[in-house]
Amino acid sequence: MNKLVNQNVLLKPGSQTALRSANQQRIVDVLQASGQLSQAQLARETGLAPATVSNIVRELVAKKVLATTSAGGGKRHAVQLAQNAGLVAGIDYGHRHLTVAIADMGHNILSERRVELGPGISADEGIGMAANLLGQALDSIGESLEAVSAIGMGLPAPIDARTGKVGGPSILPGWVGVDPAALASERIGQRVVVDNDANLGVLAEHTWGAATGIDNVAYLKLSEGVGAGLILGGQLFRGPGGTAGEIGHTTIDEFGPVCRCGNRGCLETIVAARSVIDLLEPRYGPGLSIAEIVRMANAGDHACSRILSDTGRQVGVAIANLCNLFNPDLVIIGGELAQADELLLAPIREMVRRCGIPSAAARLEIRRAGLADRSHVLGAVALGLLEATPQMAS
Ligand SMILES: [Zn+2]
Repeated sequence: MNKLVNQNVLLKPGSQTALRSANQQRIVDVLQASGQLSQAQLARETGLAPATVSNIVRELVAKKVLATTSAGGGKRHAVQLAQNAGLVAGIDYGHRHLTVAIADMGHNILSERRVELGPGISADEGIGMAANLLGQALDSIGESLEAVSAIGMGLPAPIDARTGKVGGPSILPGWVGVDPAALASERIGQRVVVDNDANLGVLAEHTWGAATGIDNVAYLKLSEGVGAGLILGGQLFRGPGGTAGEIGHTTIDEFGPVCRCGNRGCLETIVAARSVIDLLEPRYGPGLSIAEIVRMANAGDHACSRILSDTGRQVGVAIANLCNLFNPDLVIIGGELAQADELLLAPIREMVRRCGIPSAAARLEIRRAGLADRSHVLGAVALGLLEATPQMAS
């Protein structure tokens, strides 16, 4: 018998059955967090002996709790939680869209649906639409709500961790003061957990995207709103009030434009998508989009590349400050502005080198989000996966 199991017996006296079920649970927990792993990886992650892992996997495959697969990026005979261990769903509200996705416990996305949202939609209407879309997505894979063991939901708004209510400033004014988890759980008839979109961005990138396997990560969302999601020591860091990462409302210019939060000259008033567009509209007229600005900059337009570069420099100063405080290994740039890619990332890197503490800045990597506009809905799924309890088949 291997050493770790012996230690376990000493630490936690109990019958062999209790030990076996504790080891089974460890394997299930690791797979729930990681999706698919080879048996060798499972042994490393759980600290169990390869022979123990092999026995438990065989047993749980027979009970249909786990499934083996030879598919998935060359991971031969990868192990994952079986489909009948339950499904999870993610719901993401953006400024103008609503997206729903469904995944199995093996982190495979089975269905994804998206609709456009009108302006000023109330929380009640929004949740009604999500319930419908979720129903359609489940129908498309021949499943029903009973198969779903948890639902994660993302809102572009701060959620007060103590009251569960949407706080201000929010770009969804119809939701302020609402407890979205309680309302959605009641309307959908299944437990719903809620988080803000920057936190979901970092969870998604950590589960599927540019930050897999990295334990100290900041994700910066640069869209209509500006915020950061932080993973520190492998865990999402929300702060006691749930407002950690509100980097968009740090003061850059004390006498600058009034921000929707009531302060003046916040980072968001300078680098949000709307502010970038406003700077260029006097020259190019109304109706500009970030995609159009990026296209023109790539075609050699001086004003467009100058504005994107200046925006990158302002973001870079904020990231240098963040880096001095948290010393992450990786900063991921997501949201609408991320499509500017190196036009934005190069000046960000330059300013981090210039303004950051050399020891913190030198080893910091800055990458574009790997999941593009899917990152928030996949983050909602990842939140659901964190909350879900796999249904152990008897
Ligand atoms: Zn502000």
